[in-house]
Amino acid sequence: MRELHHLLTVGEVAVIGLARSGLAAATLAAREGANVYGSDSGARPAHESSAPGALVALGVDAQWGGHDLARIAKASLAIVSPGVPPQAPAVVAARDAGVPVISEVELALWFLPQTRLIAVTGTNGKTTVTSLIAHLLHAVGTDAIAAGNIGQALSDVALMAEPPTWVALEMSSFQLHDTYSLNPDVGVLTNLAPDHLDRYESLGDYYADKGRLFANASTTSSWVTNADDAEVRRRTAGVAGAHHRFSVGGLPVDARFDAGHGAVSLFDAPLLVRADIPLIGDHNVANVLAATLAVALADREFRTPLARARIAAGVQSFTALPNRLEVVADVGGVTWINDSKATNVSSARVAIEGMTRPAIVLLGGKHKGEAYAALAPAIVKHAKAVLAYGEAAERVEADLGALLQGVPLERLGSSFEEVIRRARALATPGDAVLLSPACSSYDMFTNYEERGATFRRLARSRS
Ligand code: ADP
Repeated sequence: MRELHHLLTVGEVAVIGLARSGLAAATLAAREGANVYGSDSGARPAHESSAPGALVALGVDAQWGGHDLARIAKASLAIVSPGVPPQAPAVVAARDAGVPVISEVELALWFLPQTRLIAVTGTNGKTTVTSLIAHLLHAVGTDAIAAGNIGQALSDVALMAEPPTWVALEMSSFQLHDTYSLNPDVGVLTNLAPDHLDRYESLGDYYADKGRLFANASTTSSWVTNADDAEVRRRTAGVAGAHHRFSVGGLPVDARFDAGHGAVSLFDAPLLVRADIPLIGDHNVANVLAATLAVALADREFRTPLARARIAAGVQSFTALPNRLEVVADVGGVTWINDSKATNVSSARVAIEGMTRPAIVLLGGKHKGEAYAALAPAIVKHAKAVLAYGEAAERVEADLGALLQGVPLERLGSSFEEVIRRARALATPGDAVLLSPACSSYDMFTNYEERGATFRRLARSRS
């Protein structure tokens, strides 16, 4: 601890990015005696401009609307917020000047030495699996919190007077990039697929960051990984520790789904049936397998018959998270499903595959670099029509147009109201309208939450 204290107090600490996690990190560093310079490229948030703000009270020198790169280059330590990509100029300035760069999670880990962790990463399903793990940890009677890339920053947890015994920790690739001390009780890798091609130089770089989950792997480590995913199998092959796998593809592994019988089993004994899982899509069965396996492995007490029963009951009481295949309205026999969080092609594909009604699929937004052709088989099987909208519309049409075997694709503009109006006109009783855009939202919305909220509101408005 003395060394850490030295790093925090020997000079100025730069916190890069002052959204929720950055603020928590700045607060934690300041509490530990650091002189903190925090900066953010965005505008000062309303709550900070209207009042002197908690940061000032802590002695944090905060700058909004840009970063002082020279000042960052002189810092003794740079702490990076999760939303800031490794190539951001402020991070590059620190690195180029030889300033040690750590993630906000790394800082928090220094102050949570006793906390037991189940860490989750992967391209898709992180938030679902992380919150399900926290839910199941509660179900087996522990105090647990979901933190990291989800809701609560780990630095917020470190600031608690009494941190919980367990944390389910969601880790994005950016967070893993600068995290060195992560050594979870159980680490979960959900899946790997192309994403963030707009922010990484290569897919290999992106996967390498995901692989940092295993940075401190040892013979005592415990890993939960996806047996159905070839990239995951390849990247975990040489990793030290006990490997436990899950499969919805019928492979004989520790947690598996037998689609023929609709049976979910854990360690070769039945746990649940498909109908017990209140979530749409087989990918959510995979998420349930990952979460139940991780919790069962985390402590031998969670493997008793009673704990198993509680885990099974916990799955049944888990409901879909907002913006993740969330049923938001049922109007005139048409089900409206908000999957706004599906911001890459692989997540939209599983969502479309999960449709049990003819679906009008809304695809589009800001293009991130992936081709859309991989969606064609799922669309042909499950969709009644595709509405391509926003900046990516032309690209979506170009990639898919010739592959849809008669499923109509209409190209619309950037009015979301118009998209919804058109979906409503096309839908007949028994259909679903699915927003699973495969793109980010930044061309038309502040973020995916705003896109989801707009969809929810318009779907319910009946006009
Ligand atoms: P993440 O936190 O990794 O973005 P979420 O749990 O928030 O993942 O889910 C985001 C979207 O990804 C969902 O709306 C769904 O379309 C898709 N998704 C969820 N779980 C999986 C999975 N296991 N495999 C593939 N896609 C998934």
